[in-house]
Amino acid sequence: MASQERQPFKVGLVGIIGKPNVGKSTLVNDLLGFKLSAVTHKPQTTRHKIIGILSGDHYQIVLLDTPGVLKKPRYELHRAMIQKAMEALREADLLLFVVEPYPPQEEDLLILEEIKREKKKAILVINKIDRIRKLELLPLMDYWSKQYDFLEIIPISALRFQGIDDLLKAVIQHLPEGEPLYPPDMLSVHPERFFAAEIIREKVFQHYGQEIPYSTAVVIDEWVEQDPEHKGKDYIRALIFVERDSQKGILIGKGGEALKKIGTLARKEIEAMIGRPVYLEIWVKVRPKWRQDPRFLRQMGL
Ligand code: GDP
Ligand code: MG
Repeated sequence: MASQERQPFKVGLVGIIGKPNVGKSTLVNDLLGFKLSAVTHKPQTTRHKIIGILSGDHYQIVLLDTPGVLKKPRYELHRAMIQKAMEALREADLLLFVVEPYPPQEEDLLILEEIKREKKKAILVINKIDRIRKLELLPLMDYWSKQYDFLEIIPISALRFQGIDDLLKAVIQHLPEGEPLYPPDMLSVHPERFFAAEIIREKVFQHYGQEIPYSTAVVIDEWVEQDPEHKGKDYIRALIFVERDSQKGILIGKGGEALKKIGTLARKEIEAMIGRPVYLEIWVKVRPKWRQDPRFLRQMGL
């Protein structure tokens, strides 16, 4: 029965860092393409910017966006940008430091410096190995192994999808044990619903004072894809629950202005996420003490 032993659930935030053009985006696509349940949207949660979530039977990998490094910078990558990127990755449980199969350049060394300074757990990923001969790989691995105590050094070709499964295995192996951060069912069945609600919730957090955000719950009540009744746009009805009438008033604002504003912002972001036009309707409902009502919470999937 030993082989039947239950595997521990592995979960964590994973950041991908590397200089421009090393193949970070290609690698992210590889990883997200690995599992059908992966989410490829770009929701902004209140704490992290997530670019994707890979959920498996015994793991959940949350890939974090890296500002300034993941996107192609318009100007030379320098220390300040790398520090900013590292700051965004502070909460990451694990870093994938991606390099090219050549002697390191200044930017690589600056990133290395930051990883050392922050003592981050990191896997060194040598990408684009299709560009070199096997013989050339060994000295590179040797060089990098002497620079830092990397958990692993893994050669891949993101372009040719080589080494990706090994990398994924290593990531899972080195993640901490824990409970899933996001409900796996929700993600695999209706990830877009979950993230649409998150987007609206985020707007509430950003646009209202202290009391309001913590008294609200956002639920996607209905989602009709390419609804003929709304000119072929996706019709989404979202409910925002609050606890008191006064909170409802604040959320809606004078003449509905406040709600309209967050509605527009949320709609644009949801449209960007799904790549289709959206007709978003938001209703504010008062439900006293909803936070203490387990039945309501369960019904709402909260
Ligand atoms: P990023 O700037 O780090 O996100 O890099 P990208 O993923 O945009 O890739 C930069 C360039 O490198 C693109 O032209 C990719 O097609 C190419 N590239 C990425 N991975 C590989 C690889 O494994 N081998 C080769 N030969 N090219 C790759
Ligand atoms: Mg990129």
